Amino acid sequence: MDSAQFPLPTAQPSQWVVYLTARCNFACDYCIQKGRIIPGQRRKPWGKYEELTGEQWVRAFNDLPVRPDHTLILTGGEPSIHKDFYYIASHLEGYKVDLTSNLTLDVDRLTREMNATGRKLYSSFHTFHPDFITAEDFVEKAIQIRDSGVIENPLFSMVNLDEFPHFRSDQYNERFMEFCEVADRRGLQFQRNEFRGNHMGAAFAHEETHNIECTSGWVNMAPNGDIYNCQYHLEARKNCFGNITDIENVKPMPEFGSFFSCSDFGYCDPCHENSGRGAFRDANGVVFRRTDHDPDQYLKWMEPSAIAEVGRRYLDQGQLEKAQGALRMGIEKLEARGEEASAETWSDLGISLWAADAKQDALDALLRGVQAGDTDSKTIAAALELGRETEQTDDVRNVLIPFVPADRLAQIEDALTESF
Ligand code: SF4
Ligand code: SF4
Repeated sequence: MDSAQFPLPTAQPSQWVVYLTARCNFACDYCIQKGRIIPGQRRKPWGKYEELTGEQWVRAFNDLPVRPDHTLILTGGEPSIHKDFYYIASHLEGYKVDLTSNLTLDVDRLTREMNATGRKLYSSFHTFHPDFITAEDFVEKAIQIRDSGVIENPLFSMVNLDEFPHFRSDQYNERFMEFCEVADRRGLQFQRNEFRGNHMGAAFAHEETHNIECTSGWVNMAPNGDIYNCQYHLEARKNCFGNITDIENVKPMPEFGSFFSCSDFGYCDPCHENSGRGAFRDANGVVFRRTDHDPDQYLKWMEPSAIAEVGRRYLDQGQLEKAQGALRMGIEKLEARGEEASAETWSDLGISLWAADAKQDALDALLRGVQAGDTDSKTIAAALELGRETEQTDDVRNVLIPFVPADRLAQIEDALTESF
């Protein structure tokens, strides 16, 4: 085979991606390596394979007739759980090898094996996943790998879930704060990466497909060596171009920038779709790349109690409209099932509406909270105060009387009067 017949595109520096395994030792609910991301539901990458051995990978790459001096990304799943990961990382020749790992790898072993062959990794990318590793452990490993001398450009990161409280448990939030503090104290630089778990502004749902023209010209190699142009086709094992161990019979692959038809638009992996490299062209000839995120799309799959939690976190963050949207959605979901929302949910809705100056709606929601069992003094005081501001003091008192003992109600009213 001469270079003119070589079937893999080589123009883009980060186009060749080797998925050494589709397994992972973590199970992040925001993992975008298969469709239908549901907050709170642990998920693994996309499947099982008869994985190529280290020798097969190394022989296939080192024997290629065209070896562009560009990046070869080793990823997964978690690539370091491939049984021959250290051999592969330390024996590839003629590439800028880049590693993506959750940092559970054995840094001492990587350092030893890279030094034994005299090779270095060109770059590496490590993301902190707070539900599965402590901040101390991650930062310790990160510093060890940064200072190992076997990776030229190590990079550390966290997914930016500020706009996506759906995916942040209390433990996540605590470890995130701890991570910021430990990284700062120990001098570890890190960046925050955009969450790419949306498809065209909607949740990544795998609900419907459309015909489109696409330019996704990745060279994605599955754990068994099969080659695909995009991550969805890789995961679905669809439209295979051939196998890296049999390059003579690989069909020519598209370059980024050349449009081809695809009937699977809608199932596209959001990471690659959102990477900014590819583009789509619709039936009217309009070329587009990506649209805005809409985190609320996720709420439709969540249980009402989890939605209420999201609403509460939005409220804590001062995002009042978002809080109201989430809390109302949770209430509506329950009502559609013939069930009542919790007292706290109504009260949270009332507080968020009051903060947004929607006094009557706030009062109605707070009184629903009291009727559902929230007799916290702050809630009662808020209802009384809103009753005064909307000139409904007597009506509000009448609603409260069956739920709050008269002497306690009088105490709260007296305290409010003193504070005016
Ligand atoms: S560590 Fe990465 S590959 Fe593994 S489950 Fe989490 S996001 Fe997915
Ligand atoms: S439209 Fe989506 S599924 Fe089809 S090739 Fe492009 S990225 Fe892949």
